[in-house]
Amino acid sequence: MSDANDHEQLYLPDSDLDDANREFAQAIRSFAAEKLAPFAREIDEQRTFRREMVDDLGRAGILGGPLPAEVGGGGWTPLQLAIAHEELGAACSNARGFCAVQTGLVAQCLHHNGDESQRDRWLRPLMRGEAIGAFGLTEPEAGSDVASLQTRAERQPDGSYRISGTKHWITNGGVADVLLVFATVDPNLGAKGLTGFLLTTDREGVQRTPMPGVDLGHRGSDHAVIELRNVSAEASEVVGDVGAGFRIAMNGLAAGRLSVAAGAVGIHRRAIAETTAFARSRRQFGKPISRFQMVQERLADMLTALHASRSLVHRCARRREAGAETHADLAMAKLYSTEAAAAAADQAVMLHGGRGYTSAYPAERLWRDVQALRIYEGTSMIQKSIIGRMLGD
Ligand SMILES: Cc1cc2nc3c(=O)[nH]c(=O)nc-3n(C[C@H](O)[C@H](O)[C@H](O)COP(=O)(O)OP(=O)(O)OC[C@H]3O[C@@H](n4cnc5c(N)ncnc54)[C@H](O)[C@@H]3O)c2cc1C
Repeated sequence: MSDANDHEQLYLPDSDLDDANREFAQAIRSFAAEKLAPFAREIDEQRTFRREMVDDLGRAGILGGPLPAEVGGGGWTPLQLAIAHEELGAACSNARGFCAVQTGLVAQCLHHNGDESQRDRWLRPLMRGEAIGAFGLTEPEAGSDVASLQTRAERQPDGSYRISGTKHWITNGGVADVLLVFATVDPNLGAKGLTGFLLTTDREGVQRTPMPGVDLGHRGSDHAVIELRNVSAEASEVVGDVGAGFRIAMNGLAAGRLSVAAGAVGIHRRAIAETTAFARSRRQFGKPISRFQMVQERLADMLTALHASRSLVHRCARRREAGAETHADLAMAKLYSTEAAAAAADQAVMLHGGRGYTSAYPAERLWRDVQALRIYEGTSMIQKSIIGRMLGD
């Protein structure tokens, strides 16, 4: 039997990376092993959002990683984003989810669409973890069908807006200092009426309550319902142009799919690592269960799917680096990697037997956490419809 280090090489990305990216992966892995992994079980069991995690991610340059160096970011390539978010996802899915919202959906949307004063005020605090951001798109009656959102921004005679409506499922919503929220300036315009606003969360009329009934996964994350009651917003708080909100939100979500896909690869990899270690140590019928052919068959399927997932994610990242149009590539990477990770986490629970059903082993947490990745930033069905439209329309 080979030793554990040989096994690691079978599922880590390192041997497929050039020297610089291998070192990059190892640096993020060390950070995650020291600052994130030790708390993953505790925050899940205690259902707490760890503010120190944000400070650590900010200090390590991870929150600013994907932004260009000229605005104070790390200048990561899309492949480096995928590498980093795989490591974060393997260590603690709450941390990867936090970064996806803070950096991917808020800071990057602001960098691409905000004006100078919005960027000056918020980009550095968001990248350093001194401020927390949230992305408010989903509503009780508008999920996949974003263009049907009902939050209303009514223009006032002085050019300001009054915003009213309800957002739910908002990650970081209860702890955020700033909210990138989408509202319609005219419901008759459909998608063309959607407009993004950058609002501080301490202003009058913003009421935040914990999202009720959330207990399945990502228990160490903050999810909120945000009620906006006649909240006033200046014209200078519009992000991009009035009516450009649908495009801004869709581009943000599309790019964010790379993080979700890479995070799924991380969960998948962790499921293999945990399950292999367990199966090699658990003995039944006089030998380690890893020697049984049916167990090996399941491990083999998990490992094969892991490499297929990572190949799709890295291919998509490299195409983005080359400036290619990657709408369908992102959808394929997210669809395949999240469904494969869910299947792998399912096998991980099974192969741990009764222990897989307890929180003493990470398998059940991986199984719970991965479910959200199949849903947010576009469900698996929505990804299929994006891919299908490319072929069929
Ligand atoms: C953990 C978590 C964190 C989240 N964080 C955020 C956040 O920070 N900000 C935010 O704005 N939102 C957030 N969301 C919301 C998330 O984006 C939505 O849940 C998601 O877009 C799906 O919307 P919905 O829940 O309303 O489901 P629905 O859109 O009602 O979908 C229900 C079912 O119908 C299917 N369906 C819908 N339309 C079609 C179609 N055209 N073809 C085929 N099937 C279809 C879906 O695939 C799904 O299976 C979060 C959700 C979760 C679970």
